[in-house]
Amino acid sequence: MTKTYANLIDGEMVTTSDTFEVVNPANEEVVGLVPSCGKDELDRAVAAARRAFKSWRKTSAEERQKVVQGIAAAIKDNGDELFRLLTTEQGKPHAQAQMEIFGAAGLAAAQSTLTLDDVINQDDDTRLSRTRRVPVGVVGGIVPWNFPVMMAIQKIVPALVSGCTIVLKPSPFTPLTTLRIAELIKDIVPAGTVNIITGPDELGPLITEHPDIDKITFTGSTATGKKIMEGASRDLKRITLELGGNDASIVLPDADVEKVAEQLFWSSFSNAGQICVAAKRIYIHEDIYDDLSKAIAEYAKGVVVGDGSQQGTGVGPIQNKKQFDRVCELIQDAKDQGYQFLTGGDVDPSGTGYYVPITILDNPPEDARIVAEEQFGPVMPLMKFSSVEEAIERANNSEYGLAGAVWTKDADKGVEIAEQLETGTVWVNEYLHISPLAPFGGHKQSGFGAEYGIDGLKEFTYPQVITVKRDADI
Ligand code: NAD
Repeated sequence: MTKTYANLIDGEMVTTSDTFEVVNPANEEVVGLVPSCGKDELDRAVAAARRAFKSWRKTSAEERQKVVQGIAAAIKDNGDELFRLLTTEQGKPHAQAQMEIFGAAGLAAAQSTLTLDDVINQDDDTRLSRTRRVPVGVVGGIVPWNFPVMMAIQKIVPALVSGCTIVLKPSPFTPLTTLRIAELIKDIVPAGTVNIITGPDELGPLITEHPDIDKITFTGSTATGKKIMEGASRDLKRITLELGGNDASIVLPDADVEKVAEQLFWSSFSNAGQICVAAKRIYIHEDIYDDLSKAIAEYAKGVVVGDGSQQGTGVGPIQNKKQFDRVCELIQDAKDQGYQFLTGGDVDPSGTGYYVPITILDNPPEDARIVAEEQFGPVMPLMKFSSVEEAIERANNSEYGLAGAVWTKDADKGVEIAEQLETGTVWVNEYLHISPLAPFGGHKQSGFGAEYGIDGLKEFTYPQVITVKRDADI
């Protein structure tokens, strides 16, 4: 029988009479039922978070640290069960699911020790002025389906560390592992500090517009981000938006073709390309274009697309039907336009599971939809460039500004180019390394605000300046 997962509200695991199904994208089988919450459940969760905030905000940094380290340990200790469940609902291969689960535990442990210390602005005979960071209150967290656990943890942890409480909504496509974690941490987090409720997309605007939520931290598409900003503007909620990307990589002619081919491949195709910072446009210098594009296509031939729970699978299915249809549409458009494919492109729409073959395009034009739009699937356009200036201009010619990369033996040159890219993150000679202690965020329509590190923590607080007049004559 299909398991029904419960929500965490006010320290209790609760269900609703109304539920919805969660599907395994590898075989389209139903793998869980989850509560379909609406306004009533949200109101209960927010009221619980508000009550809990009164005492949680007064706890010491050490107490919060202990709780967050408890969350880290619970995830790590149950990692084997959790990563298998994650593959079942998300589709990513076991090895990548393992990285997400143990990465989330590591992130919680690393961020548990962050503190926001007071800053002294003035300290002399006339006055003592001090800035302290005050938790904003109840946070609404809304997350997507590509890294459901990592995204949930990267919202829950800084909320708790800063002294806030949270109501978190997983994506309706991938709520199971997060709800299993809810069960595991139920008795670790004080009642009401962490509430996890599931529902359809319609639950999102109810969170964004809820009058008793003080801040929204959102990761998802740019289109939804705009709606969130609009909803949150009604009572000027604080918002952090981590949105889409169309991330460019620039490969200089001195790069070693064989060595860089494999890394470029995985920078695009990890998690079946469903990574906000995945390399989505690869600009290769014309001197090495032919050799490198051949080497990448050759490498691709050895990578197995399939069910992520099977040994040997390198690229899993697309997570859901809606995204599968979108990726298929982009591929079809590329075919209709007569663009050249180095590999892939033939999707079997009648098969079971949302599988898209590894698809690599050979130098499509800059205005091709498959280049200009965020594909979010196992699709990679390779493009040729002649001069570095041209590559930088083309990389920056995007409404997005999330991440990018430069590949060259000359690290100084790489940095020089990195500094000209209009993105929140740039890697030189590596990809996808995100430190829990460094700010992560986007520029342009990739969002604003930051997560991770001290900058990320600050977003859950506001600065309060207390000034004491020392020579007052009162
Ligand atoms: P999405 O915007 O469709 O959904 C994200 C979440 O928002 C889900 O929980 C969904 O239920 C909820 N939602 C939907 N409509 C809403 C509304 N009107 N108001 C409030 N909430 C609403 O995104 P997705 O398809 O789940 O995720 C893919 C997108 O996420 C891609 O564009 C990707 O680039 C982006 N993403 C960005 C980052 C980052 O850190 N910048 C990380 C991961 C994914």
